[in-house]
Amino acid sequence: MSKKLTKNQRTILQLIEAKETETSAQNLHFEMQQTGLKIGLATVYRALKLLKVEGKIQERVTPEGESFYSKIGMAEHHHHHLNCVNCGQSYPLDVCPISQKITDWCQTQKFKVYYHTLEFFGLCADCQTQADNSECFNAN
Ligand SMILES: [Zn+2]
Ligand SMILES: [Zn+2]
Repeated sequence: MSKKLTKNQRTILQLIEAKETETSAQNLHFEMQQTGLKIGLATVYRALKLLKVEGKIQERVTPEGESFYSKIGMAEHHHHHLNCVNCGQSYPLDVCPISQKITDWCQTQKFKVYYHTLEFFGLCADCQTQADNSECFNAN
């Protein structure tokens, strides 16, 4: 089902594949303009959507609703995050808790797996300390 990519889509894919970290649509748009390419932000978003549907890139949406894009990593190159719901900090996990077994099971459901995400939400150490302190403060 792979369609032929347009020049803009290829350029965006190359920019994303050259990066070791995630990037935003705004950042990609900026980089393309820096190299003298005339492209609208809406075109960047459309290209990102198509690349996502084609399984060429992956998208991560933060708790604030911001999207970040990265290449579909080798299993060992992707990250899961611990997200603090109070301060919005994300802490990447070094390990992937999803086993090949689960991915294999998904394939048996006639589902073609491009990638997976797994995010944890809660309070970071700093915010827990703050919450504890304010409880003491209120009690007094
Ligand atoms: Zn926090
Ligand atoms: Zn994983």
